[in-house]
Amino acid sequence: MGTSLGTLVFYSDFDDFDTWKHALQAQLPDLEVVHSSAVERLQDVHYAMAWKPPEGFFRQMPNLRLIVNLGAGVDALVARKDLPPDVPITRITDPQMSRMMAGYVLFAVLRHARDIPYFEQAQRRGAWAYRHPRAPDETTVAVLGLGQLGATAAHELQRQGFRTLGWSRSPRQIEGVACFSGMETLDAVLGQADIVVLMLPLTPQTQNLFDRTRLERLRPGAAFVNVARGALVDQAALTALLQSGHIGSATLDVFEREPLPAADPLWGMPHVLITPHLASVAIPSSSARQIAANILRVAAGEPPDNRIDRSRGY
Ligand code: NDP
Repeated sequence: MGTSLGTLVFYSDFDDFDTWKHALQAQLPDLEVVHSSAVERLQDVHYAMAWKPPEGFFRQMPNLRLIVNLGAGVDALVARKDLPPDVPITRITDPQMSRMMAGYVLFAVLRHARDIPYFEQAQRRGAWAYRHPRAPDETTVAVLGLGQLGATAAHELQRQGFRTLGWSRSPRQIEGVACFSGMETLDAVLGQADIVVLMLPLTPQTQNLFDRTRLERLRPGAAFVNVARGALVDQAALTALLQSGHIGSATLDVFEREPLPAADPLWGMPHVLITPHLASVAIPSSSARQIAANILRVAAGEPPDNRIDRSRGY
């Protein structure tokens, strides 16, 4: 028998069920939180919180009222065929998640701006390879995507004194950041940047946006940071441009195929830093509050916050 709020079903291969259950029940003691492997009455399930559940997952629940994407990127979710058409989908946009992402981006940008890949390679040769540092305002960083995550990262970068450019679909204003919008401005933004940071969602418009021609618009020797999605980029072209030196170095958290296959040439490149898709994660203690608030809204017949626009894809 479900409780007054009904049941929330949980699915993720990456996130710890008990931690999420406790965080949610601390907010909503009346909510039954069940792992998908233990659901008894699918008709009592009103809320699903999931990351990459198996195909057909959502079809089993006839009384679903809300789908919570257990993360910020909804590309995998909106591409599914088993989504009930009228159930709202929300995603996690939590300040702690933005802070964690901004920390990663700041680390990656500082690493490139201070030539750390060069010094790491010199150290391996036992070489005292002095290279005079540039002042932060001599380095231009372009943040592509100024959403919850991108705007926070851009703000942090300009605080460090970098000349910071931002790019988004619609016009945005961020103090200290020169903001541009629309496809017609993208190449000009890329052509000014010493370090390019991808923070765009994967949608039909952004898929393969960074093909060979566009990657060639980067300044010779520019650094490339991708913390968004691998499919935004033609990875073979990126690899070739890293090999030729047109792109000087890269920090990559996301790839066309994950895990990155063992034979991929990117692994062996000394000027490429690879991390396994963890620049930021959903944090239960801070996200549970917004999820709980949305559950209460939906239970009261109101629309939830942070709803994604299925037609836009983000
Ligand atoms: P948001 O949806 O809040 O923001 C997306 C931004 O991208 C907005 O500024 C939007 O423009 C812009 N944008 C979207 N489409 C276009 C386009 N066609 N042309 C130009 N700009 C566009 O996303 P978040 O900031 O929350 O997250 C960004 C992405 O980061 C996620 O989609 C996810 O893929 C990735 N991510 C990666 C993680 C990791 O660990 N590596 C962790 C979490 C997220 P506008 O402002 O006009 O809407």
